[in-house]
Amino acid sequence: MDGFFPYGVQYYRPPSPPKKERTKDLRQIKELGFNIIKIQPQWNWTNPKENVFDFEETKELLDLAQKNGIKVAITTILENAPYWLAKKYPEARYTSFGGEVVDLQSACGTPSGGWPGLCLDHPGVRKAARKWLEAITREFRKHPALYIWHVWEEPHMEANSYYEMSPFPANLFCCCSSSMDKFRNWLKLKHKSIFSLNEHWHTKYSDWEEITPPARPCGGYSLLMDWLKFSEESLAEIMSFRVETIRGVDNGHLIISNSGLNTLDCGKDNWLLAKHVDEWALSLFPRFGNQCEPLCSIGRTIEALISSAKGKTCLVFELQAGGGSWGKGIFRGVPPAPKEIAAWVWSSIAYGMKGILYWCYRPETTGTESPGIAMCDLEGNLTERAETAKKLGQIINRYPVFKKGKPSLSEAGILHNRERVNLLRCALEDNRFLSRSVTGIYQALWDKNLTVRFVHLDETSLQEMKKFKILYFPFPLSLTNEQAEKVKQYVYSGGILVSECHTAQYNEYGYCSQIVPGNGLDEVFGCIRKDVGHSIEEEKIIMSDGRKVTAKGYREVYKLTKGKIKGKYSDGAIAVVENIYGKGRAVLFGTLVFESKENSSVLTRLLPEDIKPEIKVSPDIFARTLTYQKEMAIILINTRRSITEVKIFLRDRRFTINPKEIWQGKQIKKRRDYLSLTLEPLESAVLYMI
Ligand SMILES: [Zn+2]
Repeated sequence: MDGFFPYGVQYYRPPSPPKKERTKDLRQIKELGFNIIKIQPQWNWTNPKENVFDFEETKELLDLAQKNGIKVAITTILENAPYWLAKKYPEARYTSFGGEVVDLQSACGTPSGGWPGLCLDHPGVRKAARKWLEAITREFRKHPALYIWHVWEEPHMEANSYYEMSPFPANLFCCCSSSMDKFRNWLKLKHKSIFSLNEHWHTKYSDWEEITPPARPCGGYSLLMDWLKFSEESLAEIMSFRVETIRGVDNGHLIISNSGLNTLDCGKDNWLLAKHVDEWALSLFPRFGNQCEPLCSIGRTIEALISSAKGKTCLVFELQAGGGSWGKGIFRGVPPAPKEIAAWVWSSIAYGMKGILYWCYRPETTGTESPGIAMCDLEGNLTERAETAKKLGQIINRYPVFKKGKPSLSEAGILHNRERVNLLRCALEDNRFLSRSVTGIYQALWDKNLTVRFVHLDETSLQEMKKFKILYFPFPLSLTNEQAEKVKQYVYSGGILVSECHTAQYNEYGYCSQIVPGNGLDEVFGCIRKDVGHSIEEEKIIMSDGRKVTAKGYREVYKLTKGKIKGKYSDGAIAVVENIYGKGRAVLFGTLVFESKENSSVLTRLLPEDIKPEIKVSPDIFARTLTYQKEMAIILINTRRSITEVKIFLRDRRFTINPKEIWQGKQIKKRRDYLSLTLEPLESAVLYMI
């Protein structure tokens, strides 16, 4: 369906919404201009007995959608398993490191029970899941309303949220005997022999069967580092199972998965997961609770998702449509204002997202998500949020540039690897250092209105890396030899690398390098660490051009081997080193310099001069462009706290004829060198020109 921009709502998750309301709802959904609904016919709900499949309710929904000219995304949820299956295979219940097994129950996102499902590493569960996936695919593959199979709501080890809703839970799943067999087989493939494993881990195992998970993470690294890597690859294997099972029955429809809320520093590798699907999607809930997530943070999440998709079409498959909270308690949070929803949608489109589905249409009727996050009230009446969504859809559908346009890519990127994320998890540390560092450097580039791509070191070839003139590497605590070699070659062949303290401090098994930067990267930076401690006070580093940056977190001191001093601590110790390596250049800061917003001007001065945004605005606000053939859209959002008159200077002179503001019909003032208009805080404007 070329040119189809999916614009719709999550509609059905049993038992919501009430059955008697559905005919009226679908009619109203059509009137709002939505062209797709997402439905979740859950496993335990539709496979209540062994070999009994009941898709009657699902079919009614697809028929209703068809009657109204609406397409359907069918979400196949395996995170609720049938109770008969748990009875048949009690050993397949998720089992923690500590040996606790999880019985099936209802949960916030699975009100009809069966949560958190059963372990898909168990052959009996895998077979039953395949049978259900094949049955539902066979049932609906020829239904005219079907648009796409949505195979995983948000990939993660579901049982990990049994103890706490945290990306770094103290207890990790799954350690049932099937999962342990899978882990040991993974270890055998990776290490080849128990001797080799002992060499890497510095252990004395005599047999694979002796390897058991620790009762809980206690601060040791090697076993856990491999366990976490295995867990990421295991999730990707389960994604492949879901996709290939459906594709085996229906090769004619697209297959998509959400990636979830967090796309960089949680327990999964989005690059590995996205490989298996046709399209890749995101959940976005910027206003859970009272605080609204900054627009920059939303950008980081979206651009990380787009990076991991490596050219595949990306969509927002869940966008918050009402007040909500994190699945806990009865607090509902402040519902998003219409201008917030508009800012989320327009910025998503500006980054290149090609579909928006709101979560959700009608409020949930039970569980801790009830009665929230919806664009209707409990009786199904529309709120002003629904009216805003309607208006947004009308504009998006009218202009091809939103369906097919692309943003212009900058040549600045941020390096990413999983080892440093996992080392923090093994160190019983939360992810705040890494998260602040990534967010800080992203914001420095985002404030410049540059498109940013995250570059995964294992999933990006050297040729692809060379497309970036500059790469920033936040808190690169742990690297494999292969990753370090790629970084070396990138700089040697002409790239600019900017890195922070602790570069390659640890290898992939969590062992310290004797020389830091490790893995031979000292040669690239032209220096060696002399000492390291914490930067307790916010010490100022004086750069060689007299500018100052603030030290954060760590205080690494260097001695030179070849590089030049670029900055010193207040006591004269070397804090920043710059080195020419091959045709390229590397700059190393001895602290978490990316974190602080006040350091951003020093960091962005390292950008090559020709890395510039498509348009310049004054004062600086969010300003991005999309182009498609002869069309151009400029998406503006006032990210300042006051009413602002914005001047827009176009670099590309092709597009200065007859611009019009199509979102709110605002007046544009035309001057000789620029256009201008006035925006309230967080207000969006969309300039269209052809
Ligand atoms: Zn298991």
